[in-house]
Amino acid sequence: MTVSSKRILILASKLGYQTRSFAEAARRLGVEVVFGTDRCHQLDDPWADRAIPLHFEQPEQAARDLVARLAANRPDAFLALGDRPTVTAAFAARSFGLTYNSPESVLTCRSKLRQREVFRDAGLSVPDFFSFALDEPLGAVISRVKFPCVVKPLSLAASQGVIRADNVAEFAAAVARIRALLESPEVQVTREPGLDRLLVEGYIPGREVAVEGLLDRGRLRVLSIFDKPDPLEGPYFEESIYVTPSRLSEKQQVSIVDCLDRSVRALGLEHGPLHAEFRINEAGPWVLEVQPRPIGGLCARALRFGPEKIYLEELLVRHALGLPGSDLSREPEASGVMMIPVPKSGVLEGVEGLEAARATQHVTDIQITARLHDPIVAWPEGSSYLGFIFARTEQPEEVETALRAAHARLHLQITPRLPVSHPVTGKVSAAS
Ligand code: ADP
Ligand code: CA
Repeated sequence: MTVSSKRILILASKLGYQTRSFAEAARRLGVEVVFGTDRCHQLDDPWADRAIPLHFEQPEQAARDLVARLAANRPDAFLALGDRPTVTAAFAARSFGLTYNSPESVLTCRSKLRQREVFRDAGLSVPDFFSFALDEPLGAVISRVKFPCVVKPLSLAASQGVIRADNVAEFAAAVARIRALLESPEVQVTREPGLDRLLVEGYIPGREVAVEGLLDRGRLRVLSIFDKPDPLEGPYFEESIYVTPSRLSEKQQVSIVDCLDRSVRALGLEHGPLHAEFRINEAGPWVLEVQPRPIGGLCARALRFGPEKIYLEELLVRHALGLPGSDLSREPEASGVMMIPVPKSGVLEGVEGLEAARATQHVTDIQITARLHDPIVAWPEGSSYLGFIFARTEQPEEVETALRAAHARLHLQITPRLPVSHPVTGKVSAAS
């Protein structure tokens, strides 16, 4: 253990298993952790009692609040987990004189529409796209759509509200469904900008990968390329399996890294973790999105580095603080994670087969993160997985097989909830 007497500020919308995982990594290094969060009504976590309450939807004010609160206890570095806190982090970094991304660059990343414009202007391959206000007459909007297309909100994450439509009827249904999601109290409370607009893009066929990267004062390092071996063809895009190293050809991987490099430059990102997604087909790589944050959920546990096999969380804490070890390479073994899909909305009433699933060859861990008796929501309205299955062995094929075998042994009992009608709008939602 390294003892460093340093302090790291972790900014996150949710205080839960992901923040805990980063906090544990920091504590292993003897680093003090301070949290900043905007979900103070959700403090269900013992780590959170000292969290600084912030409003991430007002990032300049949130940054001023942080500076005021931490004037006597300046952080040596910070990490923004999830998309929402990145803009606050950028403004606060400027005030504290810490190396990070500019507010302009992270603001661009917060809008899927703005990202598309920046990538298009930089000459990167992007699908045709346009955005429209939800109060525009749908007839006029439909005349602009080319099928197949993907309709999505401007600022949500985890594929929440992302729907493919192959014809006019599907498009109209998708718009109605995303509108209801965006108007729901759960989404309105975030006060995200652009909740009154949608983005329409041409559907890009092809295989999909996720790339974890690390920027160091403008220099890009790729930490891993994950294949997503399940076909993600819609109509909804809930993720499941990630396996690294990628089985794409060397040439395809080089083209993806080159595309990431150009995307990062176009956005003007400079420092800290990156999570990016691409599709690749005969026309080459297409950037789906680049975000200045680490991979979500517990997925960082799928990546270990160096002889001590430190997890990605620890590598990122080391990097943020300028401690040695952030240049370690990923271990040689193949590794993968399955985000356990939500087959239907309802209440999680039981988990069976966990022991058998854990005993699956090459499976290293299973974490059920959904809580018993809590409501769970399927995609496209949902955005939280039931848990995570991890596997590791020599070959990526075996990792994929192990994840599927473990998942087949797990039985999650979900009882449907009766749809409730909203008392004010009269709208029926099964997701509340
Ligand atoms: P989010 O930020 O919510 O994850 P994305 O824009 O990354 O939203 O879209 C989520 C998923 O939807 C992608 O990972 C991909 O599988 C699919 N998707 C999004 N846009 C397109 C597109 N234009 N063509 C094909 N698939 C898409
Ligand atoms: Ca995404």
